[in-house]
Amino acid sequence: MHFENSLSFAQSCDNKDNLIKFRELFYIPQHNGKSSIYFTGNSLGLQPKAASEALNQELEDWKNLGVEGHFQGKNPWFSYHHFLTENSAKIVGAKSHEVVVMNQLTTNLHLLFISFYRPTALKYKIIMETGAFPSDMYVVESQVKLHGFDPKEAIIEIKPRENEYHLRQEDIDIILELHRDSVALVFFSGVQYYTGQVFDIKKITEKAHSIGALAGFDLAHAAGNIELKLNEWHVDFAAWCSYKYLNSGPGSVGGVYINEKFANDNTLPRLAGWWGHNEKERFKMLKGFQPEFGAAGWQLSNAPVFSMAIHKVSLEIFATAGINNLVRKAKELNAYLEFIIKDSIQSNPKLSLNIITPSAPERGCQISLLTDDNGKKLFDHLTLNGVIADWRNPNVIRIAPVPLYNTFEDIYEFGTILKLF
Ligand SMILES: *Cc1c(COP(=O)(O)O)cnc(C)c1O
Repeated sequence: MHFENSLSFAQSCDNKDNLIKFRELFYIPQHNGKSSIYFTGNSLGLQPKAASEALNQELEDWKNLGVEGHFQGKNPWFSYHHFLTENSAKIVGAKSHEVVVMNQLTTNLHLLFISFYRPTALKYKIIMETGAFPSDMYVVESQVKLHGFDPKEAIIEIKPRENEYHLRQEDIDIILELHRDSVALVFFSGVQYYTGQVFDIKKITEKAHSIGALAGFDLAHAAGNIELKLNEWHVDFAAWCSYKYLNSGPGSVGGVYINEKFANDNTLPRLAGWWGHNEKERFKMLKGFQPEFGAAGWQLSNAPVFSMAIHKVSLEIFATAGINNLVRKAKELNAYLEFIIKDSIQSNPKLSLNIITPSAPERGCQISLLTDDNGKKLFDHLTLNGVIADWRNPNVIRIAPVPLYNTFEDIYEFGTILKLF
């Protein structure tokens, strides 16, 4: 595609964009009386304007109905998680019975590991990317210890080659092959939070299965960002949070996918609670856990309705926009961002920026920029000029224009601010 570094070009792209109206559905944080350039939808998505009304509906039902809200509310709380399943399933490419919304991400990873990390004396290793999100590292480390293994031996981290920033699929394959018979689980992120690399979930899953291991993914930075086909790719399990690309508010409820081949598998160990019990029998208060069919059978507690109310409206926005349309626009925004960054670097020799995110298709919305000693100063310059980006130690600035509310004009403006540094 042909790009120009001009306001009129950026505006003409926005005029042609049939998703532009979705920006109106969100509150954009203000800076000096005008909309900031919000590039951190990968960290905390913006608030949908419909959130407060949705939340208020549940507060009103609680106020007016008390406990009756479980069955008499506008959206009965007893079945609240069902309202989220289908729209979540569309986002991750799963069947409805493979998905449930519950708890939060790290909690869900632990629950999934209890069921799907089943090490034996000979087959006990977990293979993962190096530099994974800290919570994921702690999950893996503590799960390995829970089973009596030494993390140093049981966790194999794959590193990029020297002077490279992201992993090559061929290297992932080689490591899996090398540890072949001793691998119990391959656990990766879908999109690496630091580098922005999109992993080939399909290939990693195939390779894991070929050595008799399971494949699980943390989709925190992938859900709502890239195209996912978890069912078609035969992924065993996955989990994600709802507050990044999915715009459902700080600490909001998480999502889980469990492949349908486990839907009826009552032999799997799991930590159980009453909300995962056969729904028809739940209030009989009987002894003896009978899991609900599918992912819903992994629930523990009754639904956190206030978080879910916001998640529900947010998922409805995704369903209206269509994840495929969003992914297509994200690619265009991202390509324009790369063009603007490169053009700015050329015209301002003070900018020391290195794009460490691999090229499309190995990227989603995010571009990670490796900086030099002046990196923090550049970051402060961006902040002072109304760009909300994020800084990740030691020296990376992450920029993530998202298709629901960012514009080509945002990206053009970002370029003018870069040039002024
Ligand atoms: C954001 C993120 C988390 C955060 O976990 P919470 O349990 O929601 O606090 C975990 N893992 C990854 C990969 C993330 O990007």
